[in-house]
Amino acid sequence: MEQQINFAERLAAVQQRIRDAAMRAGRATSEVKLIAVSKTHSVEAINAAIAAGVTDLGENRVQEAEPKIDFIGRTNAKWHLIGPLQGNKARRAVKAFDVIHTLDSVELAIRLDRHCAEEGRTMLPVLIQVSLAGEASKSGVEPAVVDQLVDTVRDLEHLSLQGLMTLPPFFDVADATRPYFQQLRELRDRLAAVGAFAGTGELSMGMSHDFEVAIQEGATMVRVGTAIFGERENLGG
Ligand SMILES: *Cc1c(COP(=O)(O)O)cnc(C)c1O
Repeated sequence: MEQQINFAERLAAVQQRIRDAAMRAGRATSEVKLIAVSKTHSVEAINAAIAAGVTDLGENRVQEAEPKIDFIGRTNAKWHLIGPLQGNKARRAVKAFDVIHTLDSVELAIRLDRHCAEEGRTMLPVLIQVSLAGEASKSGVEPAVVDQLVDTVRDLEHLSLQGLMTLPPFFDVADATRPYFQQLRELRDRLAAVGAFAGTGELSMGMSHDFEVAIQEGATMVRVGTAIFGERENLGG
């Protein structure tokens, strides 16, 4: 039962693995933000995770996240949208989330900017989701057209481009995702060199089974669900 999971212990174990991976890579632990992916998990489980020290939460569906965010609030934790965002849910995402990791089209960028203006939101941090070669999922923009989206976001008053995100295909062997992480880092470096990002350029990459590899390759945000919350509950879709 989920209630019996010791979040403090699980979280501490993940944090230790993050520290070890950062140390091996010669990086500071403070460069890596842990986003606890709470999709399918209950508000009780999320509150337990917050009590154990989680500061950032990831959800992949707007309609599932809204009641959780209403209930838990936004002062104890920041909410990251990490799943695909349809245009017709863009306004709700602007209202509910602190950061959007899955900007994947010019149309969506323009729409998000307009909703920000209408909702009185001065600044929405976004990451561009990049779909890399050989990826199974169709979400994300291809590297060849990232520049066009970067230029669009630069011209939009309310969007602040923080970095890039990717969701590689699943491999049993964690190391197999390394080339994807390397590609994303190279793209980030190229864009950072031309001043594309508000900061140094976040890299949102790495999940429960491969976040250590992602940290070695430069991840600044790792999105970890199962290793913190346990196996996901089936909410029937
Ligand atoms: C579910 C999900 C995660 C977390 O996956 P785990 O394997 O449970 O750590 C990370 N990123 C995205 C985009 C997800 O949808």
